[in-house]
Amino acid sequence: MNRTSGDFCLLCGGGADVIGVFIPDDPQKWGAAPGKTRFVRYCLCEKCKCKNDTPEKVEKVILAELSGGGVTHE
Ligand SMILES: [Zn+2]
Repeated sequence: MNRTSGDFCLLCGGGADVIGVFIPDDPQKWGAAPGKTRFVRYCLCEKCKCKNDTPEKVEKVILAELSGGGVTHE
């Protein structure tokens, strides 16, 4: 795949191998306008994408960023 310099693994900061999209269960809670879906694009490296606890960690990291209020992905 093509890599861009801005893509790093969400969990460890390593080189990105896969790109995923996280969609919160309740988008409005995280700043989406009513009726709109909010989603966050993220990357994982080869190593992290295979770990069993990665989906759980990804969710925690992303929700922490969203609740921080400084991150927008519109
Ligand atoms: Zn990683």
